[in-house]
Parts: sequence; C-alpha cells; structure tokens
Amino acid sequence: MPYVVYDYSKCTGEAQCVAVCPVQILETSPDGKWCKAIDEHVENKEAVEAFHEKVEPNDPPVNIRIWNDMPSCIFCQACVAACPTGAIEVYESLPEGTPTVEEL
Ligand code: SF4
Ligand code: SF4
Repeated sequence: MPYVVYDYSKCTGEAQCVAVCPVQILETSPDGKWCKAIDEHVENKEAVEAFHEKVEPNDPPVNIRIWNDMPSCIFCQACVAACPTGAIEVYESLPEGTPTVEEL
C-alpha cells in the first residue's frame, strides 16, 4: 500500500500537490496553512483525524512528519514533482521503525 508522507516543517500550504493529484486524495487544511491527505481516503482515518484536530490550531511550522497509509494512491509521484519545498514524499511501503500516526 502506498504511503504519502507530509513533512509539516516544510509545507507552506500553497497546494500544488493537491492540484496535480489525479485521484484527488489530497486537500488543503481547514485553516489553509498546510495540505493533508483526505481522511476519507486514508486507511487509519480516525487516527489521522485526531492528529489534525490536535494540531490544526497551532501555527506552522509543525516539526513533524505524518505517514498516511493511502489505498487510493496510484503511486504516480506527481505530488512529489510538483512540491517546491520537498515537503511531500510517497513510498510503496512503510520502512521498519517508522512511527505511525497512531503512535504520535
Ligand atoms: S506542494 Fe509541497 S509545500 Fe505546497 S502544500 Fe503541497 S506538500 Fe506543502
Ligand atoms: S503519488 Fe499520485 S496519486 Fe498518490 S498522492 Fe501523489 S499525486 Fe496523488
């Protein structure tokens, strides 16, 4: 399953990643400060929602990387190519030892 990783210490929220995703699984956060995986397309939906509820009120940068396990991602890497700051990465699998969003 592909993993979409946002590094919120680098994300500016200008949403180039959202614009190019062919399966529309990325979105701007409600406060417009960063982008995020759409919770409905994320396998661990409840944990991701809880994380964003916890951090949305804070000002960026938030020095944290979130791994979203995303079954809808087609691994095209368009979001990675479009990002000007290197804030998004996509991996085919979760490297051993990576903390999941449930563990944050
Ligand atoms: S393109 Fe990069 S910096 Fe811009 S919102 Fe997406 S991940 Fe963040
Ligand atoms: S790799 Fe492609 S399908 Fe997956 S999130 Fe990025 S743009 Fe969307």
